[in-house]
Amino acid sequence: MFQVTILGSGAALPVIAQDFRRYPTAQLVSLPHTHLLIDCGEGTQMRLQELRIKINRIKHIFISHLHGDHYLGLIGLLSSMHLNKRNQDLYLYGPEGLAEIIRIQLKYSHTRFNYKIHFQELKTGVAEEVLNDGMFSVTTIPLNHRIPCNGFLVKENPKKRKIIKEKIPQDIWEWQYAKTLQKGEDVLDEEGKVLISAKDFTVQPKSRSYAYCSDTSYFEPIIEQIKGVDLLYHEATFTNEEIERAADTFHSTAAQAATIAAKAGVGRLIIGHFSSRYRNNLEPLLREARQQFSEAYLAIEGTSFVLEKENLPVG
Ligand SMILES: [Zn+2]
Ligand SMILES: [Zn+2]
Repeated sequence: MFQVTILGSGAALPVIAQDFRRYPTAQLVSLPHTHLLIDCGEGTQMRLQELRIKINRIKHIFISHLHGDHYLGLIGLLSSMHLNKRNQDLYLYGPEGLAEIIRIQLKYSHTRFNYKIHFQELKTGVAEEVLNDGMFSVTTIPLNHRIPCNGFLVKENPKKRKIIKEKIPQDIWEWQYAKTLQKGEDVLDEEGKVLISAKDFTVQPKSRSYAYCSDTSYFEPIIEQIKGVDLLYHEATFTNEEIERAADTFHSTAAQAATIAAKAGVGRLIIGHFSSRYRNNLEPLLREARQQFSEAYLAIEGTSFVLEKENLPVG
């Protein structure tokens, strides 16, 4: 499984209307072996409960920056993990200051969590791999916002090459060859001639990837790093009518998000972090994005985006 679930998609202010609610930013990335939480706006733990996601299955939490709409739900979530008798370690990644904020809250409430938090302070202005558990890696994406801010690139580690067995003549195939071919090396006969060439009889499965670009102004330097990802989330706080306001506040418009997606050649684009001025009418944002990039979608609370496994050619 590799899936992104939108827990919150609003900008600074939550929007509570009769038929929908828009919460501050948070996303859950579900992988086969674990959940990653990316940003944790106010109300995130309630959203997780509504979606029946067990909070103690979250092992890694990534915070993009210290504007309240991206992390004010964190202390509540960490406290609930404590009350739920969590005992396994938690790994928290965020900007300078986050550890201190948590420490002060715990100090004045005389609380000591019954689990350990490993905090990794994220650098600014430089991409660094902060996690690699053997299956997936997470690398920061330096963004351009009013305060230090990172996006995150979640990527599957390269897989073994897949053998197209159907194409190999049965009389020459032996199962011991598999290891050699999976490494991309040719199988040779006794005289050193190529018996089965890795190039012709194997394919390299694609590593699926998701890029989360939190608050940022239009910032082309990210394009290189997110090139060809299957799924991109890029903030789109405003429409182009507010392009100056977007620049002044270090945010992007829907058209700018879509331009980044098109230039980076991504598979699909999710736009989010909508200003509360759009309330229940997000259509102008979606229309504007789709003019530049047709595979654009809205981040709506509760929606999941699945990153499909590549269908490999057979025969
Ligand atoms: Zn924000
Ligand atoms: Zn911000």
